[in-house]
Amino acid sequence: VWNDCLDIIRPDVGDENFGTWFKPIKPVRVDADVLTIQVPSQFFYEWLEEHYVPVLKKAVHTVLGPTGRLEYSVIVDSGNQQNPAVAVNYPNGSANRKSALNGIGADDYSPFTFKALNPQTINSRLNPNYSFDNFVEGDCNRLARSAGLAVAKKPGVTSFNPLMLYGGVGVGKTHLVQSIGNEIKNNLPNKVVLYVDQNDFTSQFLNALQNHKMQEFQNFYLQVDVLILDDVQFLAGREKTQEMFFHIFNQLHQTGKQIIMTSDCPPRDLKGFQERLLSRFKWGLTADLQEPDFETKLAIVHRKMQADGIDMPTEVAEYLAYSVDTNLRDMEGVLNSLIFHATLLKKDIDLDLAKEVLKNIIKEIQSDVSVDFIQKTVADHFKVDLEAMKGKVKKREIVIPRQVAMYFCKRYTQLTLSLIGSNFGGRDHSTVIHALESVEDMMKTDPNFKNTVEELGKRLKMRV
Ligand code: ADP
Ligand code: MG
Repeated sequence: VWNDCLDIIRPDVGDENFGTWFKPIKPVRVDADVLTIQVPSQFFYEWLEEHYVPVLKKAVHTVLGPTGRLEYSVIVDSGNQQNPAVAVNYPNGSANRKSALNGIGADDYSPFTFKALNPQTINSRLNPNYSFDNFVEGDCNRLARSAGLAVAKKPGVTSFNPLMLYGGVGVGKTHLVQSIGNEIKNNLPNKVVLYVDQNDFTSQFLNALQNHKMQEFQNFYLQVDVLILDDVQFLAGREKTQEMFFHIFNQLHQTGKQIIMTSDCPPRDLKGFQERLLSRFKWGLTADLQEPDFETKLAIVHRKMQADGIDMPTEVAEYLAYSVDTNLRDMEGVLNSLIFHATLLKKDIDLDLAKEVLKNIIKEIQSDVSVDFIQKTVADHFKVDLEAMKGKVKKREIVIPRQVAMYFCKRYTQLTLSLIGSNFGGRDHSTVIHALESVEDMMKTDPNFKNTVEELGKRLKMRV
């Protein structure tokens, strides 16, 4: 009977899908008008139900007549789980799950075998160099870090499941999730931890699809206690991969396994995702990592130099923390280059060397934003008179924009402090220092002001 069904199904679904989704099915029995088929897993069952109901219905009705029904028996996914046998009736429509085994004794199942993952030998794809110890805590990452630490202590137990960390390029997402993975592996060696980036996941999935290894693919993932999926935003528009992830996500989540994800934006801004997947992303905790602030960058510089046993004068560290304002990955590049110069070329690290290195690595911060442009943009933004701002007026409405403009001149041009001062009505360099300090103070105490300055900074960098 099943073979007759298959003959009907095959042309409807094509050889590829047929091999993946119908070949692995085993007929179990036919009882009057009820055909029972055995599918290798719960996931497999769900996939069939979601994609092939019309096809199955047609086949069953053709072969068994209009009262024909189909029942599934689902093979347990792993040894310690109850067998969720499932019965689905056609033509009555939607899935009608029965939790009984429908008279099929456990002996009737040929246990589906797969290589069990061994927590000690599985390749977790974690980089041991990433740890909480070398992850510098700052205002920019405090919440994400402590959520990560909580999850690392009790994976799957806290309500932070999934844990979704988001933020721009180079803010430390990968570092943080890798640290969580390493921490779990160190403290809870029996947990199977797996780190994959979206790319690995997608290519494994496509590979499995082509080679009819869907079963192995999902069994593999379902054995994982802690799944870390990095850069999920790249799953955008990948319908099938998302679908597979959706199923894996559900099963892991239901069985109390921990899921950790990163993304470049909050779930609500992710485009090209199925709504049901997005809603799951929001189930647990979503925490952001922000662009690192000056103190955090300074601490990162110090930490890295210490780790490599290199002396760096404080002024150089401060200069770097101040100047590298693209992202921490660029900072990493600058520091590595400095270490290279210091160790291999046996040079001392000083301000000149740092500037030289910086120039070669981060083109953007080489000045081609002119003082004129900065002054005009800032005056426009604050709606103050440009000439007044460049001049000597001491009114507060003018002084603040002037200080902000000086601040950007320091940041985005190579001008010395005295030269900056001379562009603002011939002020001296101590006035400029005072301006820089007061802008930084205001940014610390006034979040609105900080936002304004950051927005302006972005516009200046893009020269719009
Ligand atoms: P993302 O994944 O968000 O793009 P990464 O985790 O790859 O960023 O971080 C970029 C670089 O900055 C890495 O070398 C990382 O070790 C370093 N880094 C980021 N945040 C921190 C931090 N808080 N403390 C120490 N190093 C950090
Ligand atoms: Mg990353």
